[in-house]
Amino acid sequence: MTDRYAVIGNPIGHSKSPLIHGTFAKSTGQDLEYIAIEGPLDGFTAAVAAFRTGGGYGMNVTAPFKLQAFELATDRLPRAQLARAANCLKFECDRILADNFDGVGLVNDIERNLGATLAGKRVLLMGAGGAARGALLPFLEQHPAGLVIVNRTVAKAYALAAEVDANDGVVGCGYQDLGDQRFDIVVNATSASLKGELPPISPGVFGDNALAYELVYGKGLTPFLRLARNAGVKRLADGVGMLVEQAAEAFTWWRGVRPDTRAMIDKLTVPLV
Ligand code: NDP
Repeated sequence: MTDRYAVIGNPIGHSKSPLIHGTFAKSTGQDLEYIAIEGPLDGFTAAVAAFRTGGGYGMNVTAPFKLQAFELATDRLPRAQLARAANCLKFECDRILADNFDGVGLVNDIERNLGATLAGKRVLLMGAGGAARGALLPFLEQHPAGLVIVNRTVAKAYALAAEVDANDGVVGCGYQDLGDQRFDIVVNATSASLKGELPPISPGVFGDNALAYELVYGKGLTPFLRLARNAGVKRLADGVGMLVEQAAEAFTWWRGVRPDTRAMIDKLTVPLV
């Protein structure tokens, strides 16, 4: 019998996950079905239960259900614990395992696809929501020279920085506190670009040969990427690679076989113009 997987979110019509996982399944010869489920806003748990009862093996979880997915799980892996959010569930008998592959997908995209290294670099992480939380542990595993979390609501940046080991060199602050600091890698993990907004970031934050990375994908040059480009930054990327890489991590977790990501990233890439 064909194994069943799904992505659940609300809305879900925009999701690329069925295309990505369907293509991964074909390219790796895995017999599986992958569908999109629009979970009722007040019925996430019931929707997951119905999918499991129907023979579901695992689910990707997207907005607004990542926190509920984390709460629902019986077993939470460390990256999900720090993020306090899950973007992937695996069903094993009575257990619901939860992980969060957003951060490792981001790291894989930065290191493998974009050829940048985090080790020894100064990293600025903009935002302190679920995506930033998910990125923090995978970033620290690469041993950057320093990592600054900057957020509009400063208390959230302080709180997130305080959750990791004091020796990891993570500092939380507000945008006005950045001063004249410059960074090798600047990651916009805010949702500002979805509304065409730009966090109050100075073009002076970009160091020589910096990488400017925007988590929002498929929108071309967002206000953040435009700021970077106008500041002379040559290495610009949006989150399409992260999207595909986190999907590849989920697929590997579920199926034990790693799909190639390059062709799918190329297929989904919208030029940054
Ligand atoms: P959350 O809602 O959890 O957090 C949003 C963050 O953005 C908060 O830190 C918020 O600050 C900040 N923010 C929102 N608007 C502004 C603004 N105008 N100026 C400054 N800061 C702002 O969202 P997520 O963390 O889950 O997602 C963030 C983005 O990452 C989304 O746009 C999402 O699409 C993208 N994403 C991409 C993925 C990919 O695979 N490429 C995967 C996951 C997410 P405050 O705390 O002050 O409200």
